Amino acid sequence: MAKQGLLIVVSGPSGAGKGTVCRALLDRCPELVLSVSKTTREPRTGEQDGVNYFFVSHEEFEQALFEQDFLEYACVYGQYYGTPRSTVEKVLAAGCDVILEIDTQGAIQVMESCAEGVFVFLLPPSGAELRTRIINRGTESLESLQRRLAAAAQEVALSPKYDYIVVNDRVDDARDRIFAIIQAEKLRTRRNRELIQTIAEEVKA
Ligand code: 5GP
Repeated sequence: MAKQGLLIVVSGPSGAGKGTVCRALLDRCPELVLSVSKTTREPRTGEQDGVNYFFVSHEEFEQALFEQDFLEYACVYGQYYGTPRSTVEKVLAAGCDVILEIDTQGAIQVMESCAEGVFVFLLPPSGAELRTRIINRGTESLESLQRRLAAAAQEVALSPKYDYIVVNDRVDDARDRIFAIIQAEKLRTRRNRELIQTIAEEVKA
């Protein structure tokens, strides 16, 4: 049986740079699988269905909820987002590592159901920088911008629940820190029990 892959959850406030850092990480480790969420929000310019998200109607989202096909889900800024459970489970069972780039409400649900997950909270280098990043995105209406700033403060307050804090001052550095976390997590004793057992038996024989 293939060794179970690692479930890595990268979370943090809007503007911390989760998307950019996760993309940089995927470029560095092409064997990592990014979970593509379902969302009810409209695609932004340049976003592709099945790549950035699966863009679904409210009815389709509710149907997936009814069928319990979400590992976690949340309502973020008035739109629903959820991680397809079956895809994540299949990829992990095949021994591949999966990254979830999700908000804090979802990450906390995953903490409760997946004790083996690795939870990384991405912080901006400062509050001022976070505000600038959200404003510079320019994709938000004024109302949505204000909601994101208020939510960011609440999300940062949840960061002590995570296993690791990574400051995204430079994308390459944040990427390398998360890469180092993944490498170290794979070396944990509890993730290598079978290897220990095999070698212990070989040594005895
Ligand atoms: P955006 O609309 O800017 O792509 O994402 C808004 C927020 O939803 C971001 O914080 C993003 O990480 C989060 N998000 C994206 N997919 C999921 C998901 O499947 N579950 C949860 N809980 N949050 C998600």
